Amino acid sequence: MAKELAPGLWRLDIPLVGNPLKNLNSYLIAGERNLLIDTGFNQPACRAAMDRQLGEIGVDLTRTDIFLTHLHSDHAGLSTYLHRPGRAVFLSEWDANRREEYSRGDVLWRRTYAGYVENGFTREEVDWLGGGNPAQTDVPEPLGRPYDRLENGQILEYGGRKLRCILTPGHTPGHLCLYEAEHETLFSGDHILFHITPNICRWEGVPDSLGDYLESLDAVKDLPVKTLLPAHREETGDLRLRAEELKAHHAQRIEGARGIVEKKPGLTAYEIAGEMRWSIRARSWADFPLTQKFFAVGEALAHLDWLEVRGGVKSRAENGKIRYYPNE
Ligand SMILES: [Zn+2]
Repeated sequence: MAKELAPGLWRLDIPLVGNPLKNLNSYLIAGERNLLIDTGFNQPACRAAMDRQLGEIGVDLTRTDIFLTHLHSDHAGLSTYLHRPGRAVFLSEWDANRREEYSRGDVLWRRTYAGYVENGFTREEVDWLGGGNPAQTDVPEPLGRPYDRLENGQILEYGGRKLRCILTPGHTPGHLCLYEAEHETLFSGDHILFHITPNICRWEGVPDSLGDYLESLDAVKDLPVKTLLPAHREETGDLRLRAEELKAHHAQRIEGARGIVEKKPGLTAYEIAGEMRWSIRARSWADFPLTQKFFAVGEALAHLDWLEVRGGVKSRAENGKIRYYPNE
């Protein structure tokens, strides 16, 4: 059921069936024109939940613009379905470019998957991923026109609220938070989550996405915030405290990755991910669902990049696989 958090500010609970994230929080700011923040996968269960809750609130989509904190399909999936002519679908420049590139075909995915083979996945695993990865299958239909690009610092006005875009690269290179100074409210997207930690992966063309993420935590952590609205789960809490926890979490994982490379030189990122600790419920690395392995290896790579950029480890290509060694 849609929940009114404050006058004119609603939270819509969109289930992500079978996904460890469990749900997506979509937020609606109601006014002369409405703003809908994030949407859910392009899946029947998400669509039904969205339709029902928009109906409960009485939202007229012909007066509703859509803001996507980032390009991931659990956020952007329903944006084309919900978009009406003349209305905006906002994304940052980087994420808009990438989303548009994805919708032009699977060249980008093929390149991404070729990279995963180099980093230790088997060909069979990658072929399976190509058919079953929800990041690829539950994506929005092509919008049919360019997304409406937003820049860092740009102001949006809806329902009497002035919302400032804050570019927070890390989870995606163009992730945006929205900050409303008057009510000290931060829509944190997947930049700050509670109970779960945002996944930080390597991105093509980005040398150090974890370094970017840690800087982006510093970019928001001192904002006066009374109401922190993350994109997943109902839990929320103190911004500064959570930012510090997330920084400590990554510092620990960086040391963990460094320790694995020192103890077992010559592993691939896939094998290193298998040695790292994960909160997912699986008996062993071999039992990890493949889509979760995909995120786990991406995350291991982000930590290895952080180390390599700072001289902590070095990678070497050997017979088509990239292997990691201590930097002595
Ligand atoms: Zn995301």
